[in-house]
Amino acid sequence: MIVAIDGPAGSGKSTVAHAIAERCGITYLDTGAMYRSVTLACLQRGVDVADADAVAALAQGVRIEFGSNEGGQTVLLDGVDVTSAIRTPEVDRTVSAVSAIPAVRAAMVSLQRAVGEAGDVVAEGRDIGTVVYPNAEVKVFLTADATARAHRRAVQRAGKDAATDASATADADAERAILADLKRRDELDSTRKEAPLRPAEDAHHIDSSQMGVEEVVAEVIRLIEEAR
Ligand code: C5P
Repeated sequence: MIVAIDGPAGSGKSTVAHAIAERCGITYLDTGAMYRSVTLACLQRGVDVADADAVAALAQGVRIEFGSNEGGQTVLLDGVDVTSAIRTPEVDRTVSAVSAIPAVRAAMVSLQRAVGEAGDVVAEGRDIGTVVYPNAEVKVFLTADATARAHRRAVQRAGKDAATDASATADADAERAILADLKRRDELDSTRKEAPLRPAEDAHHIDSSQMGVEEVVAEVIRLIEEAR
């Protein structure tokens, strides 16, 4: 069983995909973390992200692995834990340029498909239902309005959880900056030539602006049961 969850930045894909993986006992694949890891490697090694050949060579040479600890899933870049380092504003600003490079995408997609061939997966990203797993049994396109997405992301970065604490707040300037970044990334991710962010024709659309995580998870589980 392959469950594909696509959607724009901050729509709640990670939280939902993670919950589905736990409840269904299947592998969770965070494809955004892979593009973020390649981006971090560029920043750390001084590779100019405008140099597509250099970025592609780096993407083909790095080792990206997922692990886990008491805090949840971890991401390892060439054996080093980069779980927090891939979530900085600098990586946010740079990742869309890296993920638009076709050879980078080819390298990541082949790693992602290998995970799907090894067993049942719930994968989240931008092109899972359209490119990575076009035959996924369940495809979800998860959206939310941009202000709701920026609020959730800002609260999360402040170490709180908007899903479980509706009154949680974040610094207003930080929230504004996150909103600007989300809008800019949505625009870049949906207008790029290679595998742009768009729903698969057979995707189920879920707008989570007014929904709690539990409601979204229940809806996806209903779709999984229907597909079984
Ligand atoms: O999901 P997340 O916000 O962590 O993704 C970071 C970036 O990685 C996205 O803005 C996009 O540029 C890229 N990405 C992608 N294709 C995917 C997943 C993420 O291009 N399947």
